[in-house]
Amino acid sequence: MAGASVKVAVRVRPFSARESSRQAKCVIQMRGNTTCITNPKLPKDGTKHFTFDYSYWSHTSEEDPNFASQRRVYQDIGEEMLAHAFEGYNVCILAYGQTGAGKSYTMMGRQEPGQRGIIPQLCEDLFARMAREGSPELSFSVEVSYLEIYCERVRDLLNPKSRGGLRVREHPLLGPYVQDLSRLAVASFADIADLMDSGNKARTVAATNMNETSSRSHAVFSIVFSQRRQDPLSELATEKVSRISLVDLAGSERADASGAKGIRLKEGANINKSLTTLGKVISALAEATSKKKKPEFIPYRDSVLTWLLKENLGGNSRTAMIAALSPADCSYEETLSTLRYADRTKQIRCHAVINEDPNARLIRELRREVTRLRELLSAQGLTDPSLTSSAPPSTAPPTLNGDPGLEPPLGPTEAMERLQETEKIIAELNETWEEKLRRTEALRLEREALLAEMGVALREDGGTVGVFSPKKTPHLVNLNEDPLMSECLLYHIKDGVTRVGRVDVDIKLSGPSIQDQHCLFRSCPDPSSGEAVVTLEPCEGAETYVNGKQVTEPVVLKSGNRLILGQNHVFRFTHPEQARRQREQGASPGPPLDWNLAQRELLEQQGIDMRLHRLQELQNQPQGDKEGSEQTQPPETPVCPEPPLCPGLGCRPLPVPSVVPSVPSGPRRAGRREPLPVYQIPQRRRGPGTSSSSSSSSSSSSPAPRVSTEPSLEPAPRLREEEEKDEGGEQVSEVEGLRLHLDRLAGILSEVRRQNSAKDEQIRALRDRVGQMERIIPIPLDDADDADPPPQDAPRDPSPCRPRPRSDPPSPPGAAAARLCRLMEQDPAFRRGRLRWLRQEQARLMAGGSPQPLLQPPRRPPRFQQDPKLRFPFKSNPQHRLAWAGGAGDAPQADNSPLPSLQPPPHSGRPRRGSLDGGSPPPPRVRRQRSAPDLKARGQIP
Ligand code: ADP
Ligand code: MG
Repeated sequence: MAGASVKVAVRVRPFSARESSRQAKCVIQMRGNTTCITNPKLPKDGTKHFTFDYSYWSHTSEEDPNFASQRRVYQDIGEEMLAHAFEGYNVCILAYGQTGAGKSYTMMGRQEPGQRGIIPQLCEDLFARMAREGSPELSFSVEVSYLEIYCERVRDLLNPKSRGGLRVREHPLLGPYVQDLSRLAVASFADIADLMDSGNKARTVAATNMNETSSRSHAVFSIVFSQRRQDPLSELATEKVSRISLVDLAGSERADASGAKGIRLKEGANINKSLTTLGKVISALAEATSKKKKPEFIPYRDSVLTWLLKENLGGNSRTAMIAALSPADCSYEETLSTLRYADRTKQIRCHAVINEDPNARLIRELRREVTRLRELLSAQGLTDPSLTSSAPPSTAPPTLNGDPGLEPPLGPTEAMERLQETEKIIAELNETWEEKLRRTEALRLEREALLAEMGVALREDGGTVGVFSPKKTPHLVNLNEDPLMSECLLYHIKDGVTRVGRVDVDIKLSGPSIQDQHCLFRSCPDPSSGEAVVTLEPCEGAETYVNGKQVTEPVVLKSGNRLILGQNHVFRFTHPEQARRQREQGASPGPPLDWNLAQRELLEQQGIDMRLHRLQELQNQPQGDKEGSEQTQPPETPVCPEPPLCPGLGCRPLPVPSVVPSVPSGPRRAGRREPLPVYQIPQRRRGPGTSSSSSSSSSSSSPAPRVSTEPSLEPAPRLREEEEKDEGGEQVSEVEGLRLHLDRLAGILSEVRRQNSAKDEQIRALRDRVGQMERIIPIPLDDADDADPPPQDAPRDPSPCRPRPRSDPPSPPGAAAARLCRLMEQDPAFRRGRLRWLRQEQARLMAGGSPQPLLQPPRRPPRFQQDPKLRFPFKSNPQHRLAWAGGAGDAPQADNSPLPSLQPPPHSGRPRRGSLDGGSPPPPRVRRQRSAPDLKARGQIP
């Protein structure tokens, strides 16, 4: 069929409470399908017009005849897409826009009547229509999956065993897919609603425990809808399968680097690669459409999101995008950017086809693929030769559209792995409906058991769906910055003691600053009224705040109090009986007791900004670390990093499994420095897929050699590949295996050499600069006697500013040496300090036996000292500073740099005279200085 354009709608929401309180002005007007935006700074001639398929005015209320309700949005977009799904097309609805603009409201909505979004309405309609149209000849089945992409990691929201980090792979017949993503059979709308709610809960738990910003994650809710028609006359069955993808994208504000600065820009670059790539894909597709030519290169593979949505963006899909707009003048730039984005998107044309009998065809083609792979393996001597047919293996696999595949010939490892995977897919496709339902039910029980273990309350009927509130029992409700994630987790406070923490507790929390035993709630009946009185008792050293105030002693809680435990678990305490009494007494409702209030209080009382704190954490973490180092670090990293995903199974997302962290006390100490990976030569695995006979080859029996290199992950895929070869290739000769290892080692060695020489370069550059510095600074020889006396405590702690021990201190020029001698003779304080430093140096060298290699930085002082000010001995005496053996202005080392930092000490606040800040570029690989708010925040968090 001819291509159809992507349907594009824009929707403007009402002012938020904050915007109203700031008397924001509305910069959006809508007339029919046209949306106008006025630049608040140029109101006269700054209006821009855009036309879309739909322009939804949701800024006012139901009384306004132009008001677009949730129902109307669904009727226009959802119903059309559902109709396409019944026709057998793949469909996709994407919600795009800046955080807080209304994406989740449009997609999921709220539980109250009339507030449900497109997803629940579409699911309800789907089942209603199935019930209407179903007959003995026509049967339907629905399967659901729900995933989240955060920092390029895929998390299955429906499988509690999946701990973040599923791999995105490509199969020549299936295309890109998420390996091991659960696809659950559902029989009613209630089942789907239950899964949606469970998924949202799982998302909330993960985001809170791991201090993630939910606005940076993409949520993809997928429905696989199959229709099977049995012709009574011919008894032939035909099948149509359509995939409905409903995507709530991450906030767009960071995707547009032009509008982002500082932390935001960095986040845009590092954290939301998927959204940035989506922009590039849309631009490339739009450009191709406008030039009426076939797109040359579309960077689908550059991110997980675009790779998974490949078909939905310009491929086999009927696609709609809803761009959510903020009406406020303060969001003008972002809103204009969203409108331009939507304008580009409407140019894209998709080429949807009805997916008729895909399963039958797929199984047929998969079986052919299995035969081909077996032949291939036999030809390489990797299976029983008796099974081998004489025909040479075909080199190109079939594809779904019948095109000959273009992938390169497979090696034994890839072939073996693909064979196993294809057989697994066939088994899944052949699974009966009953088996699927059983699996779904088992997962539901597991999900509920996990929530119960964490102390999350279930409804009295055992269900987890929906908001429910106990009538009598005091409880905690979670609060979240994201309204979708707020108030979806409820924890009962039982009579007696309810413990909170990580280990052996009733309410299990994790994440930064949560202690094993964090606090407890004691609920005792009041002797006079009989009403439960709940006291919060923090454990020693546990960060616990009530209404923004840190508490260290037991405190009696009142209904409505806001509690913050650790750094990011925010709750509202509710005492139903107290709340009822307050209502009856006509107490004024006051401001909403939500996350924003809790955050405001914390900021006012403690100076802690949770948002900023999280942004800094995100910024400080290396990309691979963002999933949190605690409990959910998966064994494999499913990221699809640079270089982009390669076709075929041989090239999968960058595998990190062969990269294990080096010695724990090693270079990770700085917290921000990327880990130095150790590449471990893989040992022969004895998995079920391999022969048990594994006669020990030299490579498998000897301990795995370890080579430490700089953080480039480049060698990892090759080693991974080798590991696979090792695993699947019992038949590969030992000599061949050893040769491969040697090749890899040689590669790693040359990489290490390259990086070492780069380091040498850096050291040379820094030495040059130290030399320059010494030349620039005049060395007064005759005013030493007039200098201020050294501070009394000066020599006490020379360590913060002693020269970096790993690098040889630059030899002082003659004049400086003479002055050094003079000072040693004349100035006892200077002499004491220098002698102490020399003694320390000597002790260090003797302890180490020999100077340590340059690449291993010394132990650094504790990251957060009580007094973050760095002391500089003799700072009031410039001569001492100049004469100090480490060179003038030798600042404390940058935390993650093994080389001397040439930046002024943070306490100086302005560049020093003679520092290198004046003009010369900053030295390479010097770590960012911790910012003042950062230190402040850290200082306030014990
Ligand atoms: P996003 O998902 O884009 O970050 P949300 O959907 O969470 O934004 O919306 C932010 C807030 O604005 C929520 O409290 C939501 O209920 C409200 N909101 C958004 N759109 C509308 C709308 N059309 N009508 C009423 N409230 C809305
Ligand atoms: Mg949202």
